[in-house]
Amino acid sequence: MQDSAPPFLPYSRPDTGQAEIDAVANAIASGWVTTGPETAAFEREFGQYLGSGHMLAVNSATAGLHLALEAIGIGSGDEVIVPTMTFTATAEVVRYLGADPVMVDCDTATLNICPQAVECAVTPRTKAIVVVHYGGLACDMDAIHAIARSHGLKVIEDAAHAFPTRYRGRLVGTLQSDVTVFSFYANKTMTTGEGGMIATRDDELAKRMRIMRLHGIDRDAFGRFQSRTPAWHYQVVAPGFKYNMTDIAAAMGRVQLGRIDAFAARRNELADRYRKAFSDLPLVLPAYAADGDAHAWHIYAVRHRDGAVRPEWRDRFIAGLMDDGIGTSVHYIPLHRQPFWRDRYDLQASNFPRADEAFASLVSLPLYTAMTDNDAERVIASVRRHVAA
Ligand SMILES: *Cc1c(COP(=O)(O)O)cnc(C)c1O
Repeated sequence: MQDSAPPFLPYSRPDTGQAEIDAVANAIASGWVTTGPETAAFEREFGQYLGSGHMLAVNSATAGLHLALEAIGIGSGDEVIVPTMTFTATAEVVRYLGADPVMVDCDTATLNICPQAVECAVTPRTKAIVVVHYGGLACDMDAIHAIARSHGLKVIEDAAHAFPTRYRGRLVGTLQSDVTVFSFYANKTMTTGEGGMIATRDDELAKRMRIMRLHGIDRDAFGRFQSRTPAWHYQVVAPGFKYNMTDIAAAMGRVQLGRIDAFAARRNELADRYRKAFSDLPLVLPAYAADGDAHAWHIYAVRHRDGAVRPEWRDRFIAGLMDDGIGTSVHYIPLHRQPFWRDRYDLQASNFPRADEAFASLVSLPLYTAMTDNDAERVIASVRRHVAA
């Protein structure tokens, strides 16, 4: 074989090394494996990173969002406002509780939830707003909190993309929302394989979520072994869930957390490299964070300037990059276009004009810390070659 093509560059790949392998091996060798000292240490260290609040490690962000909505009292007949430009997990958890998600349109520049659209969607049944910091850029939280205050609504932040993100200088997870939930899914800015972290400053919500995280039992397995109460004694106070994080996952998370600032610096470097390289192309590039704020750069999504009038462009562009051995993705097919949500709530694309226009040509490019500079240059060359597809 001669002149072999460069290896396939996947859309995403986790950045893990010997330190993660050793930590996981030690967790297994300890004989504990499920929720225990590693999980407690991970929660403590994550809380130290954020600087304030109660931390609850869970086995996914989806679980965390479910616990958050349950704790704030969402139930049958309630409405919860969610963005249409998100992953289905943001909305499905509302249905778990028998309530109805109400999808709203995004802002054109940031693809974040549009505060005016939120205001218009409020009804007497509305109980909460769930925001998503799209790609890792914070939503207009001042506007969201003002709407929430004026209508007496709770605010949950789906911060699956937003670690670490800063808004008005403060880390997401420490803002004036009721609950914030981070994801450690395989492709997120740090990973535990599967996992999530709930952050809240509210003592009562933290207490409820801690109980519901593990079968509605009033203490978790770790607490049971720490306390003087006999280990066999526990009380079931609600029909809870099975959402606790394992020590195997937490051990990996502690190592990843120790690397998060280096990860964030590298993601910023890659985003800056793309911005410079693409500035002359007919692409809408991702919005940047305001001065003093920070973008987590979980997703680097571009759109064609004429995307709405050339819907076939994206297919050719993605195929062109694939021919060059480069993976891409699309974040997201808006919820109003997904069969279940569309049919269940009779959603029309014309009610979400900004998300729908963005979606027409939206493509996410590889941006992750396991990429080399050479990988980024390959992406750049391929984008330049195929942008006029
Ligand atoms: C990844 C993601 C989730 C779900 O996270 P899991 O940890 O996989 O449950 C939820 N919301 C958004 C916006 C996501 O990107």
